[in-house]
Amino acid sequence: MSKYQLAQAILKLSENPTWELARQEWQLLQIEETDDVQTCLCGHFPIKELCVLQNKLNRKVATVGNCCVKKFLGLPSNKIFTAVKRVRKDNQKSLNTETIKLAHERGWINNWEKDFYLDVMRKRILTDRQSAKKLQINEKVLQRVRKTGGE
Ligand SMILES: [Zn+2]
Repeated sequence: MSKYQLAQAILKLSENPTWELARQEWQLLQIEETDDVQTCLCGHFPIKELCVLQNKLNRKVATVGNCCVKKFLGLPSNKIFTAVKRVRKDNQKSLNTETIKLAHERGWINNWEKDFYLDVMRKRILTDRQSAKKLQINEKVLQRVRKTGGE
């Protein structure tokens, strides 16, 4: 993984001329798991955990591997991948704050669902209705995390 190469590529798509400022222009738009072969902006190949980033100032989009996003851009994509994998294996498990925040920002879930989830997330015992609602939100979020290629 080359930070230099990634920084060069990100800078080209950013408004600010320095890496320290330019990196702050980027937000996480979508995460995706893929079996297709893709190359990260840093040159790393292949990447299977993709993060689609969007520039907050000019709306440009870039696809970067999870490892680079975690290491260099400081966005919580790794925590989101971990939560998604955990819930995909066992849908009774909980997503985490980072994932719920992303889901809410993207409009996958509404205000009520976000508040509800953050409230019940750490509870060990839920009523039937609460646990049904939680499962429904888990489903909603998982549907948005595309898994492409292979299978
Ligand atoms: Zn990379």
